Amino acid sequence: MAINLQIKELFSKAEELSQTETEAQVQGWIKTRRDSKGISFIELNDGSCLSNLQILVVEEKLPDGLLEKLTTGSAISVNGILKKSLGKGQIIELYCENLELLGTADPETYPLQKKRHTNEFLRTISHLRPRTNTFGAVFRTRSLLSYAVHEYFNEKGFVHLHSPIITSSDCEGAGSMFQVTILPLDNVPKIEASGPDKGKIDYSKDFFSTPTYLTVSGQLEGELFAQALKNIYTFGPTFRAENSNTPRHLAEFWMIEPEMAFCDLMQDSKIAEEFLKYVITKVLNKGLEDLKFFNEWVEKGIIDSLEKLIKADFARITYTEAIKILESSGKKFEFPCTWGSDLQTEHERFLSEEYIKGPVFVMDYPKEIKAFYMRLNDDQKTVAAMDLLVPRLGEIIGGSQREERLDILEQKIIDNNLPIDHYSWYLDTRRFGSTPHAGFGLGFERLVMYITGMQNIRDVIPFPRTPGNASIN
Ligand code: ATP
Ligand code: MN
Repeated sequence: MAINLQIKELFSKAEELSQTETEAQVQGWIKTRRDSKGISFIELNDGSCLSNLQILVVEEKLPDGLLEKLTTGSAISVNGILKKSLGKGQIIELYCENLELLGTADPETYPLQKKRHTNEFLRTISHLRPRTNTFGAVFRTRSLLSYAVHEYFNEKGFVHLHSPIITSSDCEGAGSMFQVTILPLDNVPKIEASGPDKGKIDYSKDFFSTPTYLTVSGQLEGELFAQALKNIYTFGPTFRAENSNTPRHLAEFWMIEPEMAFCDLMQDSKIAEEFLKYVITKVLNKGLEDLKFFNEWVEKGIIDSLEKLIKADFARITYTEAIKILESSGKKFEFPCTWGSDLQTEHERFLSEEYIKGPVFVMDYPKEIKAFYMRLNDDQKTVAAMDLLVPRLGEIIGGSQREERLDILEQKIIDNNLPIDHYSWYLDTRRFGSTPHAGFGLGFERLVMYITGMQNIRDVIPFPRTPGNASIN
């Protein structure tokens, strides 16, 4: 019986297999074919790894007319014998005994020609984009990272919480929300009864009898469960209807949000540090072939910068110290920064790239520029917030200790002009066995960008959703 393995597995067992002349079956898509003196050399890729398996075909063994159809992009299944390779660069190759053409690819119209295509062009051919070296590597790395995220939290005893995608809470204020409705847009029901609401949209006729939205964050729901299960994390899709057409923003992206009860800001930052080092180490160990590709073709030096990061002791400074450093840096920034203003990417990159020369947590931000749920510090001016800044990128993680004191939290909601009656479900967590607790959020695509060096967030998600675009292509 012939073994049927993915090409990645074949290569990982290559030493052993090359000793025994094993019979094997492989399937994949032809990358290239080269004919020489009656032998045809096919480079076959099946998506399991970057490397191709070389297949040697004796031309006269093929049925008439088949060879010409074995063009770039076509799908084949091959049976043959694995042998030690005589050529350079690979350990084994497959000597074809029998070849079946499963799907042809007309060379006149197959869009992936040998030349290098732009990422913009490749986005227009969604089903062929992942067949390129770059995007195959990106999506394998994304998958490995996703696995590493779950593995880290599972090993540490965190409970994976599936927070809802549809929410009736419009409270986080993290960005504009997509509304979810079944009301007919061309004939929206209005409240007819006289009174202050006359003429307003009648949501009692909508599916949930109330306005609903796609979630912008699972944090608040995560906090509810952390008050029972202690350590939880969410990892799911989030949606923002912000009209920001930047290389760093998507309308649909994935977010990782751990939440820990009985945890303060310092412990929070230690978990964030350990987590980031863990997932990067995983990719360095298990995804090195793809990383080497990024290192050569996408971002020179990226492996070195990731290796530095996992070995570094992350620095910790306060926001107030950060402002002093920036003010006395003598550097001209596009945006000014004085105490009370938010840090821009240029400030963040200066702090970590040039000043600290490594990852740095900036902690204790002015309360005015941070969300209402962050814990008020004793100085009454700052809150227990943290941002992790890294070279090349700036902010990669944002987190905080949450305000666990009911009276202070109520006051913050009022001060922020938020409708307090919408928050009773949230405030309840501070009524019955409230605990000091903290968490952080990490945009998954930003992490994939950081680790692959890809410059546009549209190129690290399979089907990017951005303003004006939700097509399959
Ligand atoms: P930014 O300033 O980059 O818009 P933000 O302050 O709106 O980010 P948060 O609300 O703190 O971000 O969201 C948590 C994390 O989610 C961010 O650190 C970032 O990694 C990611 N993120 C936020 N908005 C987007 C987006 N539109 N597309 C992709 N990732 C995003
Ligand atoms: Mn934003």
